[in-house]
Amino acid sequence: MVSGLSGHICDECVFQAHEIVLEEMKPKSEGIPPKFNLIKPKEMKAHLDQYVIGQDEAKKVLSVAVYNHYKRLMQPEKDDDEILIEKSNIIMVGETGTGKTYLAKMLAKILQVPFCITDATVLTEAGYVGEDVENVLTHLLQSADYDVEATERGIIYIDEIDKIARKSANPSITRDVSGEGVQQALLKMLEGSVVNVPPHGGRKHPEQKMIPINTSNILFICGGAFDGIKRMIQSRVKQRALGFNTEEEAPDISPENLLQYATSQDLKQFGLIPELVGRLPILTHLQPLDHKSIRSILTDPKNALVKQYQKLFALEGIQLKFSVDALDYIAEKALQSRLGARGLRSICEAILTDAMFEYPSQKEIKHLTITLEYAHEKYEGSILSHLKVA
Ligand code: ADP
Repeated sequence: MVSGLSGHICDECVFQAHEIVLEEMKPKSEGIPPKFNLIKPKEMKAHLDQYVIGQDEAKKVLSVAVYNHYKRLMQPEKDDDEILIEKSNIIMVGETGTGKTYLAKMLAKILQVPFCITDATVLTEAGYVGEDVENVLTHLLQSADYDVEATERGIIYIDEIDKIARKSANPSITRDVSGEGVQQALLKMLEGSVVNVPPHGGRKHPEQKMIPINTSNILFICGGAFDGIKRMIQSRVKQRALGFNTEEEAPDISPENLLQYATSQDLKQFGLIPELVGRLPILTHLQPLDHKSIRSILTDPKNALVKQYQKLFALEGIQLKFSVDALDYIAEKALQSRLGARGLRSICEAILTDAMFEYPSQKEIKHLTITLEYAHEKYEGSILSHLKVA
């Protein structure tokens, strides 16, 4: 018995009352009650803006696509007008370190749905050494804590989709088990089907019981650098540009902004099979990062790298500052590394490791300013600076 000021209640009644309250609180709307945090595309983009610098086009396209995808999930299963909204998987083209994975991750975070990142390069056709395509779903299932219902509305990011391009234009005698074979295997999953998923992945547990997962409501976002696609776009765009009467009418084409003209035709030419391209109807691109954006990524986003280091040092009671020229120097080095924003982290580590090693045991230090000279000295002395990037 739980006693209060003027009465008592037994444990069984508490339990029952709890059930009743939960039942009453369930949304009574028609159709499937939303189990994700769906916000309007504009708000979604505004949210992304806090974390991701630039890439406005991609943010807009993604916000709309994701919004429509989840709106589709909220439709009652049997609709009177029989208009079925089709699934809209997404493909992103953009150099490494420009924020493809990061955007997908942030979207899943905003929506509060399960999310996983997988790499297309490890996949092979069933029966060959490597991972089966179904294992992609295992990752999502695991990230949803084996909640099948949650898994079925999650987001899967498949990285390096360009690496499974067909190896040659002609079907060859030898099987292309990590290229076209994987593309074929992905088709059904992308479109939506019930796939038997090994809950622990791999083929090492042949006795494990498979879990059927319906992929019709799983959103697939694929990303790749598509090295060399610019050449294909260029030759196509140039041909088109010949048709313009005047100089002004012709689009402004420079190597930096070529990616925005990418179409599914280019993806096919690159080596993705038409069926796969057809199942990734939304195509968007990410701009290469210039000095200004890399510099901004370093300090401006909500969880910018500089803010993270400042927090780490603050936990030791040290106020960390960077001089403006030191920040410019870090951005410059990241730009030279050609790893996009991905290079920033290792450069900062190279510069700050000594400080992070020494200062926690020196109680008297309360302030630390990273100057250009300090950054230069630490970076040049590190192994990173000796790595030549082609
Ligand atoms: P990729 O395009 O190769 O998938 P990622 O999304 O993994 O690149 O980017 C690597 C890291 O760089 C991210 O974790 C993020 O911290 C940072 N980053 C990349 N692009 C941006 C951006 N546009 N704005 C903010 N951070 C970025």
